[in-house]
Amino acid sequence: MQIVEVVPTHDDKGEPNQFFENPNGKAFDLRWPVLIVHAPPAKPQPARVRHPRTHPAVIRTGEAADFRDAISQQSDSKFLRALKAEYTREGSLRSLRERVKAAPHQCLHDFRLVGEVVWRTAAGRYQLVLGEDSPLREVVIRHAHESLSSGHTGRDKTLESVLRRFYWRGAAEDVGTWVASCAVCQSVRPRGTYPDGLLNPHSIPNRPWQDVAVDFVTGLPVSERGNDAFVAFTCKLTKMVHVIPMNFGDSSAAVVARIYFDSVWRLHGAPMKIVSDRDPRFQDAFWQELMRLMGVKVARTTPYNPRSDGQAEHSNRVIEDMLRSFVDANVEDWDLFTTNVEFAINDSRSESTGFTPFELVFGFSPLSQLDPFLEAAQSTAGRREQGE
Ligand SMILES: [Zn+2]
Repeated sequence: MQIVEVVPTHDDKGEPNQFFENPNGKAFDLRWPVLIVHAPPAKPQPARVRHPRTHPAVIRTGEAADFRDAISQQSDSKFLRALKAEYTREGSLRSLRERVKAAPHQCLHDFRLVGEVVWRTAAGRYQLVLGEDSPLREVVIRHAHESLSSGHTGRDKTLESVLRRFYWRGAAEDVGTWVASCAVCQSVRPRGTYPDGLLNPHSIPNRPWQDVAVDFVTGLPVSERGNDAFVAFTCKLTKMVHVIPMNFGDSSAAVVARIYFDSVWRLHGAPMKIVSDRDPRFQDAFWQELMRLMGVKVARTTPYNPRSDGQAEHSNRVIEDMLRSFVDANVEDWDLFTTNVEFAINDSRSESTGFTPFELVFGFSPLSQLDPFLEAAQSTAGRREQGE
């Protein structure tokens, strides 16, 4: 019998562990667990996954790239090897597989056998089933919580992201423990929660990007590219955001209208209502310029544009905190991460809608870095079964 263990890549003093090298002999400079195979004993009770204490306060920009590489390099070998080991060794997962395999059509309740691994099909999802003591839980939770496309979202959003592709008993508890002990979350978000923006029931828009909040966050460190602010456009219906770094000195209505035209209008069309915290003259000029860019020759009356209702500030704080979780060492590079933050927000479930912005606007979730694992788990296992 063999079990797989998770070993931190760095010891307590922050020194890299000797064995943490990739096949080319180049050591990764990041705190990423490697999976190694050990002799028993296996524990009867699953240990909850805890955030390691050696975790860096903030993912530094250089390491963040390695983190992404590590995820992709895990896909072919270690992830699948660990997955196979999990299904091979004696335990609840193996017996689940045996039971599903013996069932008619290899389906049992929500579980179904594909090749050598079990998938759970429930609530329209196709989840790869892991053991409740699986070391892969950490890989999955890390991806959902602190990868370059997740940005330290809270417990519920992290859990939702995990359950989109994986299932194991105790997942909610594991994610809760992990997020509660995450040093980055604690340092960035000491208060823990954000107040919800006030909802006005009489003004619920009925189409994506019909009502748009425009807000600016200023006074950020001047980046190498000269940016010291960002503008965030938020769709009030779907909560989708587009975040664009800029220099606040150039934030005239004409410039902002051009940014809107290039980054929002080309994807979502013209808005019907703009909510901004800038003065009314700014909003008038913004409308005039946007009309001109869209080719509307006769300037129409500017619609009534109320001042910001708190929703924009709400998302701006989320965006700022997420940026801080990505950037530490090179603060002048903060503007390189607005894309990551934007993706993370648009791919995580909104509390007020119950869906991710991507789901509401596109009708599906984009692929993630973990999808190649699932693909490989399915096809490798399927091929092997056919060949045997
Ligand atoms: Zn975190």
